[in-house]
Formats: sequence, structure tokens, C-alpha cells
Amino acid sequence: MSAAPVSVAFTAPADPRLLGRDVRRIAFDAATLNARVRELGAEITSAYPDGDLLVLGLLKGSFVFLADLVREIRRPLHVDFLVASSYGEATVSSGNVKLVYDPETVLEGKHILLVEDIVDSGKTLNTLMGLLGQRSPKSIEICALLHKRIARDLPHPVRFVGFDAPNEFLVGYGLDHAENFRHLPYVASLE
Ligand code: 5GP
Ligand code: MG
Repeated sequence: MSAAPVSVAFTAPADPRLLGRDVRRIAFDAATLNARVRELGAEITSAYPDGDLLVLGLLKGSFVFLADLVREIRRPLHVDFLVASSYGEATVSSGNVKLVYDPETVLEGKHILLVEDIVDSGKTLNTLMGLLGQRSPKSIEICALLHKRIARDLPHPVRFVGFDAPNEFLVGYGLDHAENFRHLPYVASLE
């Protein structure tokens, strides 16, 4: 009995998470993300040999990254979140940011590590750094998974960066488009 001819016209099956949309390209696949998050965890572990560490995630975009990151930090820490909102599109660029959910944890005397998904202009973070800095933390630093390197001369440089990001609109691993795609285990740019 001879074998039936096998079709070799493969096309990658569409990801059922994508609402029928195509990703233009996968910028960072799951293995790449996981490997870098492990490195970041080690960097952060050695950067904080002592003191109380509070990892503050900026919702919603940081939730996947933060969940993976804290499991790679080998020292005691606390986790809290904050939600920031601008007063409207026009005020985003002026850095006018309001805390919609303010962390309940006391910041005074602690090392604060603010965790963000992606830095674009950097204005959101810099405004938050100003606000949080007034609460007398021992130190305050930023960890961002992605950095578009568009912003120059920010008053608070990002201490821990996962990857330099292409200047494309990215989704996945916490990043959304109209609240979709946050659950992708990779970072992709949309078609
Ligand atoms: P910034 O204040 O740095 O200009 O804005 C950063 C915020 O803009 C991020 O927290 C994120 O919410 C949003 N953002 C910037 N670039 C991207 C992108 O490529 N994809 C997504 N999903 N959000 C982005
Ligand atoms: Mg965000």
C-alpha cells in the first residue's frame, strides 16, 4: 500500500486569541521574554541587598510582567499596585496624571520599585515618580519591560529595562489594544 501524497503547503495556524486579526510580527516571543525576566529578577535581587522592598505595579499594563518578575526576585518584598489616569488626552502630554487607585501601603523608608509595561514619552512615569517621591521613600526606581527610547533627558531614568522596543504599536504580555490582547504570552505588533 503506497502512502498518500502529503501536502506541504503549511501555513501557521491562526492564534485563536487574536480575534481573527493578524499580528504583523512577533517582536518578543515567550522564551525571549521569560529569559530576560529571569535576568531582570537577578539584577533587581542584587541591587537591593537590604531594606524593605515594595514592588509597585502600574495597572493594568504591568500585571503579567509583574507576576513573572516578582517570582524571579530572590529576597523578601511586598507587592502593591496603583492606577493612574490622565484628565484627558490633552493633559497626557502635559504630564497631568491623577492616581485613581493609590497604594494603601506606606512608602516611607522603603525601597520603591515602580513597574511599568512600556515607556513611550515617559511622562506618565515621571509624574508618578514626583508624586510618590514626596512620600519619603528610601529610594525609588523604575523597571519597565519595554522602552521605546523616544524620550530623552528624563528626570528619572529607567533603572531596569527589559528590552529596547521598536517604534510600533505593541500588544501582548499585558499590553492592550482597546483592552484586547493583554493575555498573549508574547509581544507582537498589530497589522
Ligand atoms: P508615556 O507616558 O511613556 O508616553 O506612555 C506610556 C504608556 O503609553 C504605557 O503605559 C502604555 O499604556 C502606553 N503605550 C505606549 N506605547 C504603547 C504600545 O506600543 N502599545 C501599547 N499597548 N501601549 C503603549
Ligand atoms: Mg500603561
